[in-house]
Amino acid sequence: MLRVGLTGGIGSGKSEVARRLAELGAILIDADVLAREAVAPGSEGLAAVAAAFGPGVIADDGGLDRAALGAVVFADPARRAELNAIIHPRVRARAAELLAEAQAADPRGVVVQDIPLLVETGQAGGFDLVVVVDAPDEVRVERLLRRSGMAEEEARARMAAQASREERLAAADHVVENAGTLEELRAAVDRLWHGVLAPAAARTAGAGSGG
Ligand code: ADP
Repeated sequence: MLRVGLTGGIGSGKSEVARRLAELGAILIDADVLAREAVAPGSEGLAAVAAAFGPGVIADDGGLDRAALGAVVFADPARRAELNAIIHPRVRARAAELLAEAQAADPRGVVVQDIPLLVETGQAGGFDLVVVVDAPDEVRVERLLRRSGMAEEEARARMAAQASREERLAAADHVVENAGTLEELRAAVDRLWHGVLAPAAARTAGAGSGG
């Protein structure tokens, strides 16, 4: 099995790349999905968040009030770290379970772990290959405004809370440039799949003897 870590700054096009890799045959493990599951209504993770951040971050329906929590953590790195300390271990434990299932199902498959904060959380060493999706900051801001109607100030604040482009690129084995069209992006991902990922996965055997 080939373990690929996929990352990119917010608005880089990482989700588009993940989607295309899944179409090509990769098994996708999405850290954002796991992070939502970790604080699902009634979960022990949500109780931990409520205990740390107060009842103001729980919505009327009993779920997490993401806007309220976001307002706290994006303004304050210490509080952000506190939230991450609750969520990240739960996400990693669940990812490890899914990885074991993928390994059992197809020892020569490609597993792509989509992790927005892969570099920030020091996980680059945990993969056979790290793929970074990259686009200029101005292009990313524009996409975020268009995608979610996010205010420009918020888009920039979220970008500033992540690693810089340079830090992310330094951790990359492969960079997917995404400054052009979606068609060009898909073509670049297809080249990466056929030229690098699928052949590398085919050379792997069971657990622990990859490459
Ligand atoms: P990320 O997951 O990195 O935050 P997304 O993949 O969600 O970013 O991309 C952000 C937005 O920009 C989405 O609406 C996506 O469809 C769009 N997008 C991504 N790449 C391109 C591109 N090359 N051209 C036009 N729109 C793009």
